[in-house]
Amino acid sequence: MRPVVVVHGGAGTATPDLHEAAVAGTRRAALASFERLMVGASAQEAAVVAVRILEDDEAFNAGRGACMTADGRFEMDAAIMRSHDLRAGAVASVPEVRDAIVLAEAVLEHTPHVLLAGEGALRFARARGIGHFGRDEVWTQKAQDRFDAAVAGAMRKDNRADTVGAVVLDSMGNTAAAGSTGGVLLKMPGRVGDTPQVGAGLYAHPELGAAAATGVGEVILQHVMCHSLLLSIANDDPQASAEALCRRVSGRNRSAVGIIAVLPDGRFAVAHESDHMAYAVVHPGPDGPIVAGGLRRPAGAC
Ligand code: ASP
Repeated sequence: MRPVVVVHGGAGTATPDLHEAAVAGTRRAALASFERLMVGASAQEAAVVAVRILEDDEAFNAGRGACMTADGRFEMDAAIMRSHDLRAGAVASVPEVRDAIVLAEAVLEHTPHVLLAGEGALRFARARGIGHFGRDEVWTQKAQDRFDAAVAGAMRKDNRADTVGAVVLDSMGNTAAAGSTGGVLLKMPGRVGDTPQVGAGLYAHPELGAAAATGVGEVILQHVMCHSLLLSIANDDPQASAEALCRRVSGRNRSAVGIIAVLPDGRFAVAHESDHMAYAVVHPGPDGPIVAGGLRRPAGAC
């Protein structure tokens, strides 16, 4: 089986000053993830490696760099799902945590549950001695500036920052999907988007493959986006299916949405309806890993 890593840096509308960093960040994360695959890591481990790197990268709306809630705080959502036994782990509304994906993976590995939220997730993390917590761990000037501008009405508040996600196919033929986010800028405290919700924000299945979504969580949830894609993709052209689904989910309101997917046969898709989406794809070549990627714009855009 030819392994593949696909990483996204969010279906967003980030300002051009962040584009270069987003492209470099997704590339770095995808390559690091792929290198781990090459030394025997599972799809699950490799997906967490990618997301963890992106959480530390201030260019993205996850971990350090996450956007703020309406009251100027931080609440993180993250999730991981693996195909071979359909196990998933997720956390939602966790305050000021830099590495929410580590908590999500611990939910998968060490609890009988799928999703822990808020105070319960916090207590679970403390009991296990995991997670880097505190405003200093996640606050950035970028997030502050965006918050201030949104509060002043100087920018759209629908989806101004860039969530992160990864899908991986390992050499055993197993897949995994993972994601981490600060959510949407000025979200109501307690609001949970698609990212930690199995079926909508991510999905992984032995026969169908893995997918991870990004964009306005409310519309992604309404369409159970990742599960929908994987059900429709198997007998179709993955890229065409993903593009059609993004158009449908984006809808008349033109909500920003995006998705990445990998199939068990190694085919993959990267699609979005938003101003841009940074992404990177890595697979093996004759002389080492082949990396593709960049700042994708919608089909037909210049
Ligand atoms: N999907 C995330 C949410 O709604 C945000 C994003 O992907 O940018 O929380």
